[in-house]
Amino acid sequence: MKKVVILGAGFAGLHIFYKIRHLIGKKIDVTVIDSRSHSLLKPSLPEVAFEGAPISHSLVELKHTLESRGAEFIQDEVVSIDEKNNSLSLKSGESVGYDYLMVTLGALKDYDAIKGFREYGYSVCDDEQAQRLWERVKTFEGGKVVTGAAKSTWGTRVDAPPLSAPCEGPIGEIMFMLDYYLDKDKGKKRAEDYSINVFTPGEVFFEDVGDTPREAIGKFMKEYQMNLSNNKELTEIGKDFVAFEDGTKMDCDLAIIIPPYSAPQVLKDSNIGDEKGFIPTDKTMRHLDFDNIFAAGDITALAQPKLGHVAIIQGGIAAASLMKELGEDVEIPPHDLSVFCIMNMGGHNTTLIESNVLYGGNVDIGFYSPIAKMMKWGFDNYLYYNKGHMPPDLALEATDKLIKLL
Ligand SMILES: Cc1cc2nc3c(=O)[nH]c(=O)nc-3n(C[C@H](O)[C@H](O)[C@H](O)COP(=O)(O)OP(=O)(O)OC[C@H]3O[C@@H](n4cnc5c(N)ncnc54)[C@H](O)[C@@H]3O)c2cc1C
Repeated sequence: MKKVVILGAGFAGLHIFYKIRHLIGKKIDVTVIDSRSHSLLKPSLPEVAFEGAPISHSLVELKHTLESRGAEFIQDEVVSIDEKNNSLSLKSGESVGYDYLMVTLGALKDYDAIKGFREYGYSVCDDEQAQRLWERVKTFEGGKVVTGAAKSTWGTRVDAPPLSAPCEGPIGEIMFMLDYYLDKDKGKKRAEDYSINVFTPGEVFFEDVGDTPREAIGKFMKEYQMNLSNNKELTEIGKDFVAFEDGTKMDCDLAIIIPPYSAPQVLKDSNIGDEKGFIPTDKTMRHLDFDNIFAAGDITALAQPKLGHVAIIQGGIAAASLMKELGEDVEIPPHDLSVFCIMNMGGHNTTLIESNVLYGGNVDIGFYSPIAKMMKWGFDNYLYYNKGHMPPDLALEATDKLIKLL
């Protein structure tokens, strides 16, 4: 029996697990390692931060979920990887060996890279930050809001678009959901009581999509009197300002930011990351240098932008590559990436974005409709009630066809 270790039980790790679990006890033993007891469904976090939704609905319990399905689960932090001896060390001091390693550790949101963040900044990227932000939003009686993503930097071993902000969808949700809350729930007046200023480190906002979704978002920003500043690299958050690399500052009473993405320290310290610690793979998600290591999701150098949708595509490819390696008769799906996200704008307002122009395709959709809200609700609930299991491929394909007809 070959031993497969899945490092990280987020979108990619759980998807790989569900794809290979029929082989458990027949060809493989599977161990899943995660420092968290519960997997975090990050796409639901804006509802926690701006609608006060309970965090419990964004959490999937791991031990029972995985062990009742035949895997071993270890809740611990991986602190070093010895790729020569196929072994991992955990914070508890334990060592774990493997025949195949699936690296799905996600990306670290590096709050500490921004001076002043811990004192004055807010974010929405994890359970702690989202709940802390809701406490602040509830008591926010007006003023200047500034929101945007900090700049991230990447290695050079693979050919992937080097986005300056690898996931700006949450910024769209932050600005529109906060506007909805202040306007509709609190009865505050735009421009008079509050303003929302948005910055991006990119040449353009939403650099991972084409003109159609960008124009759809721009139209709402104009209508809601939101200002946009491009090419702004955040350096500091102060008590009443945010500062940028070019020496400019913005007045600010509430700064909500997406911090730079970085690789977890264990990968920066290892021999399996690129210059920045992200995992370089080929398009079958196999490591460029180590045949028995695969990776998927935010931690891969190929994942640009860093989206759950991309993590799922890559997780499916990594699982198929492993199964083929184990002698199974499977086809490895193509590494055809696209941007797909449903942006909650508060209330029933939602814009569905689908685009592959970043990868040379011609799909570029920005679809504003309450139908998209129902799709998001259905998807989030499916994932939650099915313990991180994605809806069946057929349902996803049917949804994709429906979107193209709309
Ligand atoms: C606010 C927000 C909203 C988003 N909305 C959307 C959306 O609407 N649609 C979309 O497609 N994407 C969205 N995304 C992006 C999406 O959440 C990520 O792309 C996705 O979670 C990546 O999955 P992953 O499995 O690669 O990593 P993760 O989900 O981050 O999982 C990584 C796992 O590894 C574990 N781990 C890390 N380091 C260690 C270690 N050293 N030892 C042990 N365990 C470790 C972590 O605990 C975690 O469970 C959103 C992101 C944010 C922040």
